[in-house]
Amino acid sequence: MTFSDLGLRAELLRAVEAQGYTTPTPIQLKAIPAVLKGGDLLASAQTGTGKTAGFTLPMLQRLADGPRPAKRQVRALVLTPTRELAAQVGESVADYGRHLTLRSHVIFGGVGQQPQVDAIRAGLDVLVATPGRLLDLHQQKHVDLSKVEILVLDEADRMLDMGFIHDIKKILRVLPEKRQNLLFSATFSNEIQALAGKLLDDPAMIEVARRNTTAELVDQAIYRVDREKKRDLLAHLITEHDWQQVLVFTRTKHGANRLAEQLSKQDIPAMAIHGNKSQTARTKALAAFKTGDLQVLVATDIAARGLDIEELPHVVNFELPNVAEDYVHRIGRTGRAGSEGKAVSLVCVDEHGLLKGIERLIKRDLEKRIEPGFEPDPNARPEPIENGRGKRSGGGGRNAGQGQRRQGQAAGQRSGGDEARAPRRRRGGRSGSRQA
Ligand code: AMP
Repeated sequence: MTFSDLGLRAELLRAVEAQGYTTPTPIQLKAIPAVLKGGDLLASAQTGTGKTAGFTLPMLQRLADGPRPAKRQVRALVLTPTRELAAQVGESVADYGRHLTLRSHVIFGGVGQQPQVDAIRAGLDVLVATPGRLLDLHQQKHVDLSKVEILVLDEADRMLDMGFIHDIKKILRVLPEKRQNLLFSATFSNEIQALAGKLLDDPAMIEVARRNTTAELVDQAIYRVDREKKRDLLAHLITEHDWQQVLVFTRTKHGANRLAEQLSKQDIPAMAIHGNKSQTARTKALAAFKTGDLQVLVATDIAARGLDIEELPHVVNFELPNVAEDYVHRIGRTGRAGSEGKAVSLVCVDEHGLLKGIERLIKRDLEKRIEPGFEPDPNARPEPIENGRGKRSGGGGRNAGQGQRRQGQAAGQRSGGDEARAPRRRRGGRSGSRQA
């Protein structure tokens, strides 16, 4: 089966060819015909499956057939949880739509709004947006959403996790009743099902296996080490094994900064990305990391979500995530598209509960290693785990992790941008804010 068998028009086929894709991925095989038909869609797929082209190609085809937008109007609205994902989707829209005469633009928080206002003024065929900035512009009447024909919620589970449900509901209220809705989510939690139930009308359902599961292409190992020796062990592993491109996860923004500084001092080029960094700084760090100029990128879970860095060889969990599912998302950054990757987790005595939770989730025991010179103190006693807001609580597996998310939600103090806004608005619910 080829892309032309799926009924795509010549302009789109040329753009796909220019990207070098010959065969549609499983999600594209299913999503493209379903979206072309015009009905609603519920798709379970995560980054790495080719989902972006799966909705962008048929969306562009449908838009190419219709009338141009009037002033400030938007014909297709794609909502994403993070600025990085918005930028990536925006790039895909521009790439695939290059032979069509459709206008598209990307908006997100943390950057000046005037260029965004200017871009929307003439009307847009596709607007890719994070929810907070979109609502700001809508409230100021810079954008008219009353003629939206297609709505895409990309990584809807993350949007809910980040507390965007109220923003999404506000946006839904200003959209026209009759439209096509596409919902993409890596998981089908009760909350996602509830949202899908309200949003979608008799949707086509698509579920595709992950291209890379933890069991297959990722070589995973745990290094047992004392809390205080993690930084030195990481520097040692990077140097000793000559790891050239390493994505490191920390639990907190502060921890990400500290670690990046420390590694840089040891002559290992490193930068941190998280929600408190300016958009320019984040874009710059990511670009340098992708091209190989920057050896280590230190990121929090939210900042790293949706980053499409192909065939990343090394992922390091400097700290285990509070929520076991995040481990799977984190290590899914490596071993992509058939190449083998390595995921290493540095685990101290505080994190044994979290490790058990992860092993339960992935249904296997992970290999434990001890690096000579970094042997953990057998008498070390666990301390409560820092949750990033100066609060501490016990690290006892999945349930404890969820408790911490609720706690973080109540304390939610952030600054700048969309990620910053969500937790303050959020009340109740099972999933709370994350460290960005
Ligand atoms: P996504 O899941 O949309 O984030 O896409 C993951 C990666 O797969 C991106 O780097 C795409 O450029 C790439 N990709 C998308 N579709 C195809 C395809 N049919 N063949 C090969 N690569 C693809």
